[in-house]
Amino acid sequence: MNKNHLGLYIHIPYCKSKCHYCDFNSFPGKEESIPGYFDALVREVELYAETLKEIQVKTIFIGGGTPSLVEPKYIYHLMRAVQQNLNIVKNAEISIETNPGTLTYEKLLAYKTMGINRLSIGLQACQDRLLRKLGRIHKMDEFVENYEIARKVGFKNINIDLIFGIPSQTMKDWGETLRNVIGLNPEHLSCYSLKIEEETKFGKMYDVGELIPVEDELDREMYEFTAETLKKNGYKHYEISNFAKEGFECRHNLIYWHGEEYMGIGAGAHSYYKKNRYNNLYNIEAYISQIEKKELPQENHQFIDAAEEMSEAMILGLRLIQGVHVKQFKEKFHRDLFEVYGEQINKLMKKGLLFMEDDHVKLTLVGLDLANDVFMEFI
Ligand code: SF4
Repeated sequence: MNKNHLGLYIHIPYCKSKCHYCDFNSFPGKEESIPGYFDALVREVELYAETLKEIQVKTIFIGGGTPSLVEPKYIYHLMRAVQQNLNIVKNAEISIETNPGTLTYEKLLAYKTMGINRLSIGLQACQDRLLRKLGRIHKMDEFVENYEIARKVGFKNINIDLIFGIPSQTMKDWGETLRNVIGLNPEHLSCYSLKIEEETKFGKMYDVGELIPVEDELDREMYEFTAETLKKNGYKHYEISNFAKEGFECRHNLIYWHGEEYMGIGAGAHSYYKKNRYNNLYNIEAYISQIEKKELPQENHQFIDAAEEMSEAMILGLRLIQGVHVKQFKEKFHRDLFEVYGEQINKLMKKGLLFMEDDHVKLTLVGLDLANDVFMEFI
């Protein structure tokens, strides 16, 4: 791990409306605070200029929320502040999250012009009836139109986010979604199994019996079908839910999974820096007012000691298909992996959830499905 590098995450907490499954820190109907919020983001970047003056930023991820909801002039000012105050490596991966229904030719062209080189588009499903069910604001046609414009303006690294295991979604629907998306030839695909979270519209519907989740068996079948189909079509399965053409793995997310440092800017953004984990205040107004007082808007500082760092290295490392490298574990922690976790690893190997290959401990196919059970062993 290079100590002089980190990833920068910038959170844009605005959305046109709230999707029914979403528990992210995102808010509809707060657009009037956008100018003040972006002023605060610029100031937060400036507050970090001194601390990060020796550090190289190797990836930037503008996430949300829906960053593509705001006018591109705000993103431009933010990017300018980042470039003026921090050291961005040449060829840094700079991603922005976008949603169909908020994208235009002008916005896409503006992103390209300001140096953003990776686009992530939230499609989720190809069937308009499922998009409506999820509470998405767009239709499939809009997505295809946006995707084609993105290619025309020159984006050569595009991710598409998909969700499977949506109530009432069939294998046929999911197969059709994958086929349509593969036909567009994106460089990267993130395929998540729907989780019904408390405090979401779906969570509330579930509590009163108005939402029937898909059977576990169907969910598993969809996951296995995804891995198989994408592999056959030239995508490398490199993380539990992520697939990429060779060389297009998301460098920013790899920072998280490799346990490297990252700095989060904006309301609710999380950071891991100098063995400290913390988050910024979640509330937009509280975040802005703290920055106006020239104070860093941080809370929940947690020092990560060696034991926690090792546990995180297992949980995050096993998310990667290549698994945890035994030799690298030793180099990083000066402890033998089997001396620390031999008991857990043996137990999980006996259950067929882990296996060893080329000096790496990896999840088996069944282990990928039951990853959360595996991770529990390392907490
Ligand atoms: S667009 Fe994304 S962040 Fe916004 S409500 Fe929907 S899922 Fe949540």
